[in-house]
Amino acid sequence: MTSELRESALRLSHELGDPAHDWAILAEGNVSAAAPENTMFIKASGVSMVSAELGDYVHVSLTPILRLLDDEGADDETVGSVLMASRIDDTAKRPSVEAILHAVCIDVAGAKFVGHTHPTDVNSLLCSSQAQALVAGGLFPDQIVVLGQYQLLIPYTDPGLSLGRLVRERLRAFTAEHGSMPKVIYLVNHGMFALGHTAEEVSQITLMAAKSARILAGALAIGAPVHLSARDAERIDTRPDELLRRVALGQKGETPWS
Ligand SMILES: [Zn+2]
Repeated sequence: MTSELRESALRLSHELGDPAHDWAILAEGNVSAAAPENTMFIKASGVSMVSAELGDYVHVSLTPILRLLDDEGADDETVGSVLMASRIDDTAKRPSVEAILHAVCIDVAGAKFVGHTHPTDVNSLLCSSQAQALVAGGLFPDQIVVLGQYQLLIPYTDPGLSLGRLVRERLRAFTAEHGSMPKVIYLVNHGMFALGHTAEEVSQITLMAAKSARILAGALAIGAPVHLSARDAERIDTRPDELLRRVALGQKGETPWS
């Protein structure tokens, strides 16, 4: 089971890091997979996603990482030592500092696989005055099928502990407002997180987010984006044939995070 999860995380890493996608270059991005007994596999720090090997995926315990979020006195040094101490095998490599955010996505949002990338098309908007437009409304039916009706946008925050704390707070508020967890978290001036039940879903979400960003950029260049009405978007999000399409795509329908 755990070796399969590590292999799935590695395959997803190779897919997200494929240069043809232009989602991550060099050591950008990372992937995690939730594992039994409150643990996860996370990419080691400084490793390229496309050329990562099995040994570059570190098995860590979530408990000490999540405990950091409530430790007001924790500094960079504490974070570094806790991440090293969270490794199940103490000869494994250093986990990515984004392990904190991955742990939040798994613990708070119930994600099974998480993919973090910096797609050029998405970052073009996230690094502009139009970042908010990414979450201003649904543009086309397939976008809603894959990305859900609502996504989360997080203002720029120092990666690591500060970002982990803010995302945890915003994920809780998002659930209270929408009754489900987002499939996409956009980080202003940084990149995106795709939250899935399967590795394949993470890859599909990233693919659709990149396409949506290109369409949005085109719409902004031509004029103003025209959103589907909330009623139409809601209908796509819940109609039976769209739920079947989600099942066919390997995603769960209805309430995605239930
Ligand atoms: Zn990043």
